[in-house]
Amino acid sequence: MAYYQHKCIGCGECTRVCKTSAQIMVMEKEHLYERLKCVHCGACETVCLGEAMKLFGHRITVEEAMKTVLEDSIFYSASGGGVTVSGGEPLLHADFIQILFQELKKKNIHTAVDTCGNVPWAYFEMVLPFVDLFLYDIKHIDTKVHKTLTGAGNELILDNLKRLSASANHIEIRMPFVPGCNDDDDTIHRIGELLKTLFIDRMKLLPYHSMARTRYQALGMEDTMPRVESPTDEMLSRAINILKSYGINAISGRD
Ligand code: SF4
Ligand code: SF4
Repeated sequence: MAYYQHKCIGCGECTRVCKTSAQIMVMEKEHLYERLKCVHCGACETVCLGEAMKLFGHRITVEEAMKTVLEDSIFYSASGGGVTVSGGEPLLHADFIQILFQELKKKNIHTAVDTCGNVPWAYFEMVLPFVDLFLYDIKHIDTKVHKTLTGAGNELILDNLKRLSASANHIEIRMPFVPGCNDDDDTIHRIGELLKTLFIDRMKLLPYHSMARTRYQALGMEDTMPRVESPTDEMLSRAINILKSYGINAISGRD
C-alpha cells in the first residue's frame, strides 16, 4: 500500500473503513497511517478523497489477463505491439507466464519478458517456446561491484544470458546507465567484450533518472537510489560508440 502523505487532506474517511486500525486521526485533524498494521485490503483507497492511498498490484487469473489483452487486440495488429510482462521479476511467476503466453501465441500476439535474469535457468526453460523477445538487464559486468550496487552478484545473470543467447531467442540488452556507477570506459569495454561473443539484437542504454524517489517514500522503503544527475547526451554517445566498436547495435533509451 502506498501512502502519498502530501496528498492527504485529513478528511478521515479512511478510518471509517479500516478494520485493522492502520488509519488513525489524531485530535480529529492529523492523519497517521500505521503501515505495520495494514493488511493491504485496499478499502481505504476506494474512499480516500485526496487520492493519498494507492494499492499497487492485485491477483489476476490467466483468463482475466487474456480478457484485458484481447480488448486491445485491434491495436496490436495495427501497431505490431503485444504483451510485455515485467516486474519486479516476472519469471518468479514463470508458471503463470507459461500459460498466459501459450494463450497469446494462439492469438498471434507478440510476447516479451522484461527480466533481470537472476532466477534459476529452469524458469527460463518454462517460457522459452512462447517468448518472442527477452528484454534482459545488465547492470554491471563486475560481480563484486554488481553485489555492492544491487545486493547480488552477477554470475547467474551472465550464465543465463549465455544460455539464452544459444537458444536463438530475440534478446535486447537493457542497461541502466548511472553516472559514477557503471558509466566508466573500462566497464563499457568489458560489456562489449562479452556481448560480441553472444547473439543479441541490440543493446539499449537507459539514462538514469530519479523519478522513482517519491515511490520509495510512498511505500515507506529506504531510498537507496544514487544521488547523481542524469547522464548527458555526450556521456551516452561515448558509451554507445565504445559498444559499436565491438559490433553491437547500441542505442540510447533517450532517443
Ligand atoms: S489497505 Fe486496508 S488495512 Fe491497509 S490501511 Fe487501508 S483499509 Fe486499512
Ligand atoms: S481518506 Fe485519504 S485524504 Fe482522507 S485522511 Fe485518509 S488518507 Fe488522508
